[in-house]
Amino acid sequence: MKRINILDENTANKIAAGEVVERPSSVVKELVENSIDAEAKDITIEVEEGGISLIKIIDDGIGIYEDDLEKAFMAHATSKIKSAEDIFAINTLGFRGEALPSIASIAKVYLKSKFIDSDSGNEIKIEAGEVVEKSKTSCAKGTVIEVRDIFFNVPARKKFLKSTSRETSLISDIVTRIAISHPEISFKLFSNGKKLLHTYGTGKLEDALRSIYGKNTCDELLYFEEHHDIYSIYGYIGREAISRGSRNNETIFVNKRYVKDRKLAIAVENAFRAFSTVNKYPFFVLFVDTYPELIDVNIHPTKAEVKFKDDRTAFKLIFDTVHGALKEDVMGEFTLPEE
Ligand code: ADP
Ligand code: MG
Repeated sequence: MKRINILDENTANKIAAGEVVERPSSVVKELVENSIDAEAKDITIEVEEGGISLIKIIDDGIGIYEDDLEKAFMAHATSKIKSAEDIFAINTLGFRGEALPSIASIAKVYLKSKFIDSDSGNEIKIEAGEVVEKSKTSCAKGTVIEVRDIFFNVPARKKFLKSTSRETSLISDIVTRIAISHPEISFKLFSNGKKLLHTYGTGKLEDALRSIYGKNTCDELLYFEEHHDIYSIYGYIGREAISRGSRNNETIFVNKRYVKDRKLAIAVENAFRAFSTVNKYPFFVLFVDTYPELIDVNIHPTKAEVKFKDDRTAFKLIFDTVHGALKEDVMGEFTLPEE
C-alpha cells in the first residue's frame, strides 16, 4: 500500500524552484526585481560564466531588517502582500515570496544587507536551503546578494543549461528589458569583468534607449503616445531600416512589468506591416499602463504573461496609435511645394 508523505520545506522549495528558476537569467530577473521593489536607484549586476558560477547583485535600496534576514529565505515569505486580494492591486514586481527560497535551495547564496534605519548590517550564508552562517557586519546601505554554483545539487537540471555565451546573452536580454522599463534607475551589467550595459538613471526613456542601443538605432525611432479612459500607451516604433528577421527587438511592458504577449505584439506588427515592404519584425518598445485590477499577473510563476479583462480595446488602441505615428512619419516626407 502506498502511503502519503508530507514533503519537508527544503524539498518543497527545491521542487518549486523548477518553476521560478529555470536558468541563470531567471535568477537575475528575480533578484533585480527585488532590488527595484526595494526602491534602489543604482543596481549593479556582475555575472561570471553566464551566471552559472556567479551572479552578484548590488543595490542601494532600503535593505532588509535584521530579524527578517532569515525569514526572507522562507517559503511564502514576502513583505509585499498580506492577503490574496492584494495581488489584484499590486504595485510591486514580486509578491509570491518564492524567489529567495527557491534560489537558495539550488545554489550557494550569500546575502548582506543594511536596513535603512539600522546602524549596522547583517550577513547570511545559505547552501542548498540550509543556513550555514549568520552574523553582524558593517556594510553600506542596501543589499548585496551572491548566488554561486547554480544547480550544484541538482545535476539533472544543470545539464539543461546552455553554453556560457548563450546564458550570458539571455541575462543581457533580461537586464536590457528591465533597464528600459526603469529609466529612473542606473543599471550596470558586467560579464566576467567586461561591461555589457550601462544606463544612467536620468529618468528619460530616450536616454536609456540611447545608452543601450546607440545613436544610429535611436535615430530611426518614432515616439507614440495615447491616453484612453483605462489604458495609457506609449513607446517607440522603429522605421523599416531597423526591422529584423526575428522578434528579438520587440519589447512589451504592462504596468512596467516586462511581459510576452502575442496579441499585443501582433497589434504593433500589423500596424508596422501596413507601411513596410519587407517581411520583417519591427523594433519596438511598448508600454501599456492600466489599472492593476484590470489585469491578472498571477497566471504564470515567472509572471511573464498577463491576462487582460478586455484586451480588444488595448489591441485597437495600440494598432491605431502605432499606425498613426508611422503614417505621420511617411506623410512628413511628402511636403507640399511652396507657392
Ligand atoms: P517577493 O519578492 O515575492 O516578496 P522574494 O523571495 O523575492 O519574494 O523576496 C522575499 C523578501 O525579501 C521580499 O519580500 C523583501 O522583503 C526581501 N528582499 C529580497 N531582496 C531584497 C532586496 N534586494 N532589498 C530589500 N529587500 C529584499
Ligand atoms: Mg521577489
